[in-house]
Amino acid sequence: MMNLYLCLFLLCTLFVCCSATSSSSSFHVSRRSILREVHDNDESGADHDYAVDLNATNFDDVLKDTPATFAVVEFFAHWCPACRNYKPHYEKVARLFNGPDAVHPGMILLTRVDCALKINTKLCDKFSVGHYPMLFWGPPPKFVGGSWEPKQEKSDINVIDNPRTAELLLNWINKQMSSSFSLDDQKFQNDHLSSNVSDPGQIARAIYDVEEATSIAFDIILEHKMIKPETRASLIKFLQLLTAHHPSRRCRKGAGELLVSFDDLYPTDFWSSPKQENDKSSVRNFQICGKEAPRGYWMFCRGSKNETRGFSCGLWVLLHSLSVRIEDGESQFTFNATCDFVHNFFVCEECRQHFYKMCQSVSSPFNKARDYALWLWNSHNKVNERLMKEEASLGTGDPKFPKTIWPPKQLCSSCYLGHDQRSNKIEWNQDEVYKTLTNYYGKTLASLSKERGNAGNDGTEGAALEDLIVATNAVVVPVGAALAIAVASCAFGALACYWRSQQKSRKYFHHLHSLKNI
Ligand SMILES: Cc1cc2nc3c(=O)[nH]c(=O)nc-3n(C[C@H](O)[C@H](O)[C@H](O)COP(=O)(O)OP(=O)(O)OC[C@H]3O[C@@H](n4cnc5c(N)ncnc54)[C@H](O)[C@@H]3O)c2cc1C
Repeated sequence: MMNLYLCLFLLCTLFVCCSATSSSSSFHVSRRSILREVHDNDESGADHDYAVDLNATNFDDVLKDTPATFAVVEFFAHWCPACRNYKPHYEKVARLFNGPDAVHPGMILLTRVDCALKINTKLCDKFSVGHYPMLFWGPPPKFVGGSWEPKQEKSDINVIDNPRTAELLLNWINKQMSSSFSLDDQKFQNDHLSSNVSDPGQIARAIYDVEEATSIAFDIILEHKMIKPETRASLIKFLQLLTAHHPSRRCRKGAGELLVSFDDLYPTDFWSSPKQENDKSSVRNFQICGKEAPRGYWMFCRGSKNETRGFSCGLWVLLHSLSVRIEDGESQFTFNATCDFVHNFFVCEECRQHFYKMCQSVSSPFNKARDYALWLWNSHNKVNERLMKEEASLGTGDPKFPKTIWPPKQLCSSCYLGHDQRSNKIEWNQDEVYKTLTNYYGKTLASLSKERGNAGNDGTEGAALEDLIVATNAVVVPVGAALAIAVASCAFGALACYWRSQQKSRKYFHHLHSLKNI
């Protein structure tokens, strides 16, 4: 028996050494993909664990990267029989929160660290692991570079008392979160209802989706070499909008930085110039919401199939969240910037054509933020209405997320005044709809930043708090001030000043590109 354990130990050590060596070259890719690992395994149909295996090399990065609000870390030893018996219990709980079929995705990340592997000795020491299995609970950032001492009086990391069975562990979690998760919870329990009932708690998680959609939009622009002389102005306008009103602080910062150095990074001849390929690739790889922005981890926009929802859902959420953050005086600018952006940079041909037609059918300029937000809401509903029929006849929609007219009655019954039988149209109470939009895409969508703020490390706390403040009060930051924010967030002050002085003569800045000119 001892020999068997020895062999296992050697094999594991060898595996960890190999993976540690290979991971160093593709570090960013591997740490992002770890959060998706469960997902990928699932596709192959292979048996897999839901809890994410961590080790000393990826521990900090994975916990830094996860969008989950809480993490459970199980310290165990692979040779420990009690740990082996505990594994099915732990997995039962992990199944609820980790992986593509998670019933409650993205709230809690369940992980495990094998203390019997040499590579993890220091890590396990730092957490004073005294018995196996030993489970800890806390906000993921608190584990990063963290430690735990038995006599520590105040700590954001807690030992989970008596998690011996799946039921006990889940009860403990329910107590911490004032939740009522159950091991019997099934994905999409409310099958009789539409999954688009727009649970306000869920939209809070869309902050990650908005970040991911923004990152993907810019990846596509760069990948498809879409920055051209005729599209530059449109991109700059949209960047101004993002700098002032993106609900995520890190995207506002990235958009501002990009705006400040746009001409240097992407001169008019960028794609045709013989510039060194190396130089170009670093510019091409620019991450507008930062390297830590989530990838492949859709929360609110997660479809029940891989090919549904995701990016286009995230883009809608971004557009709505911008629409409720602007001032009255920015409504026409926002309308132009959004229409131009979708027209020039949304690679779904049918989508951009349809949306552009809706943009062109607007006859008078917007003077009120409310009118623009309601126009966008109504346009989205027109798309929903068309797709409802199309998807039903072709069977191409997401069966768990059929298109519906929004907001559903469950979210806002007072939005519904009646139903005109002759035209088969809903009569809306637009004041109530606008109130719902501002609450949903303004306040609720920002509320997760608050949770993260409370949970953050010293450094992140202020940032997240600021995120909340700016996101909720963003209405008071006009697009004109985007420039100031861009400059403030730019690390290269001198360059910023130079750029500002150049702005005065910039024609697109004063003569905003009109839709008709595209
Ligand atoms: C600008 C644009 C144009 C598009 N045009 C087309 C097209 O022509 N053809 C096509 O096949 N696909 C089009 N799409 C994609 C399509 O609209 C959906 O995004 C995609 O099918 C995924 O649908 P979903 O179920 O995730 O919900 P989505 O329609 O993406 O909506 C995302 C979320 O927004 C909320 N929501 C829904 N309706 C509204 C509303 N009226 N106001 C506010 N919030 C709402 C809901 O909570 C929903 O879950 C377009 C996407 C965009 C961004």
